[in-house]
Amino acid sequence: MRYKATIIRVLKRAEDIRSFQFIKPRGFEFLPGQYLFVSVQKSGKALTKPLSISSSPTEDFLEVTKRLTGHEFSNAMTELRVGDEIYIDGPNGSFTFMGEYPKVGMLAGGIGITPLISMIKYCTHKQVQSSIILLYGNRSEENIPFFEELNQLAKNNKNFRVIHTLSRAGDSWKGRRGHVDSEMIKEHIPDYEERVFYVSGPPGLVKDCTQHLRSLGVNEEKIKTENFIGY
Ligand SMILES: Cc1cc2nc3c(=O)[nH]c(=O)nc-3n(C[C@H](O)[C@H](O)[C@H](O)COP(=O)(O)OP(=O)(O)OC[C@H]3O[C@@H](n4cnc5c(N)ncnc54)[C@H](O)[C@@H]3O)c2cc1C
Repeated sequence: MRYKATIIRVLKRAEDIRSFQFIKPRGFEFLPGQYLFVSVQKSGKALTKPLSISSSPTEDFLEVTKRLTGHEFSNAMTELRVGDEIYIDGPNGSFTFMGEYPKVGMLAGGIGITPLISMIKYCTHKQVQSSIILLYGNRSEENIPFFEELNQLAKNNKNFRVIHTLSRAGDSWKGRRGHVDSEMIKEHIPDYEERVFYVSGPPGLVKDCTQHLRSLGVNEEKIKTENFIGY
């Protein structure tokens, strides 16, 4: 279903990441983790890309979050201002979670957090009892989108934990270093055999993380992926 939506806020989430919030069109409903086709106008032509919804169905606005790449679609998004209208088409996708499993693991890098934060917010707001452990990789401190939000969600929801890891951390970083890998999964999700996994992000990350899970013996049917094809 195609809708017109008006931008109400643009937020800086990290150095190269922006969230665009708009009024939820009347009648629009979605499940946490689904995505939209977002169309923006540039020099009279429509540019369209799939973007995951980073807000939760429990919030009264819709939000998508874009990594700024300097390419055509990204540049058209950065020109959007409050009051501008865009077209959205959706919701799409079956990468969703609303508490169907008692224990889940989530693996993400960078912008791959978008469908997962929708699920985590939903589970927190609805007081879903499932245990969720998120292993989240980024480059550096300045590059962690939703850092405060994730840490706050972990404070508000005793069933949710986030472990950050940075590949190019500064000297002051006290947390984990490196990528999300099998060692990190074993250390922070010791009961990984009992969990269903959600893996999300650009194709390279999804491939690597899926491989780590396979190497630990996690069954294929317990690995759900959202592949951000296009990067
Ligand atoms: C289900 C799904 C969900 C997604 N969710 C998100 C999300 O939440 N957030 C998000 O940011 N992305 C998401 N993506 C990816 C998104 O759809 C885009 O593909 C991605 O953000 C790249 O956008 P862009 O602005 O660089 O696009 P474009 O401007 O079309 O560029 C796409 C790619 O083409 C190449 N390219 C384009 N122009 C040039 C040029 N002039 N010179 C050289 N190379 C060029 C580059 O490799 C570039 O990254 C998702 C994808 C899928 C399939």
